[in-house]
Amino acid sequence: MPVIEFSDKGLYCRAGGFYIDPWRPVEKAVITHAHSDHARWGSQWYLCHHFTKPILQVRLGQNNYQSIEWNEPVYINGVRVTLHPAGHIIGSSQIRVEYEGEVWVVSGDYKLENDGLSGVFEPVKCHTFITESTFGLPIYNWKPQEEIFTGIQAWITKNKGEGKTSILIAYSLGKAQRLLPCIAAITDKILVHGAVYNVHQALVNAGWDLPNVERVTQDTPKEDLKRAVVIAPSSAQGTTWLRKFAPYAIGICSGWMQVRGNTRRKNADAGFALSDHADWNGLLAAIKATEAEKVFVTHGFQHAFSRYLNEQGIAAAEVKTEYGGEEEMAAEQGLPDEETS
Ligand SMILES: [Zn+2]
Ligand SMILES: [Zn+2]
Repeated sequence: MPVIEFSDKGLYCRAGGFYIDPWRPVEKAVITHAHSDHARWGSQWYLCHHFTKPILQVRLGQNNYQSIEWNEPVYINGVRVTLHPAGHIIGSSQIRVEYEGEVWVVSGDYKLENDGLSGVFEPVKCHTFITESTFGLPIYNWKPQEEIFTGIQAWITKNKGEGKTSILIAYSLGKAQRLLPCIAAITDKILVHGAVYNVHQALVNAGWDLPNVERVTQDTPKEDLKRAVVIAPSSAQGTTWLRKFAPYAIGICSGWMQVRGNTRRKNADAGFALSDHADWNGLLAAIKATEAEKVFVTHGFQHAFSRYLNEQGIAAAEVKTEYGGEEEMAAEQGLPDEETS
């Protein structure tokens, strides 16, 4: 009996009677991170990292949550479960499941670069590793965060010089928080869309020391919007909400911006290939470090990526899941939507 099975409700540990990131309501759900495709509504009990809990409370409401520290074991029907930093967003964790000497690790979403916020990705040795593959093609090779930040700062400064407001399109959970120190280093006022604000407040209330932001409302003085820096989710693009900032320039922060032409295709003025996922080399390095005998590849370029692993002598198979939707859509599908509140 495999430690984890692939069921129509999600990744299932039969011995423990729990699911990992289930996409249907279940009795017991162990959650890798608070992105909406991995943490869904309706389960009776959620186990997650301490940092994930306040975000789940905002996104899913009050539920039966149990939160733990990284490396703090919990036994569920005799199955040993621990969480380990995944480096993807605040609280994001890999889930290590051990039963009768057999160890499986579910990566959730992950990245290897230390972004200063999400915890440092921890390689965990296992027999079987279940990996994401969002950017599992060799064309995806990220520049260091510092270099991308320098580019964003130069772009903001240039826009200011031209009398324009800089609109940075970024996911409300993860990318938006990651951008704050970069922007705060060159300006003392950061404006945000309501969706970004809601996540920000949840984190500040939970004790996170993040640079100050101001929510854009009807009452925000027009003078404040001029030459400002604004963080908004992709759903704000192409809406009348943006009009109040004119003249403005739009910069999209997403791994998909590595592909030539995507900036223009998305009607943006600039694209910054800043991702919360591992790039091609990152995925390969992470998989090697697990020393796993078997790798299952989920959401992303699972076909191409698992084929490549097999060619390299790493036994791999692709698995269909219902993950994908934050940054995880194929480039041609465009950037996913978020609530416009
Ligand atoms: Zn995610
Ligand atoms: Zn994912």
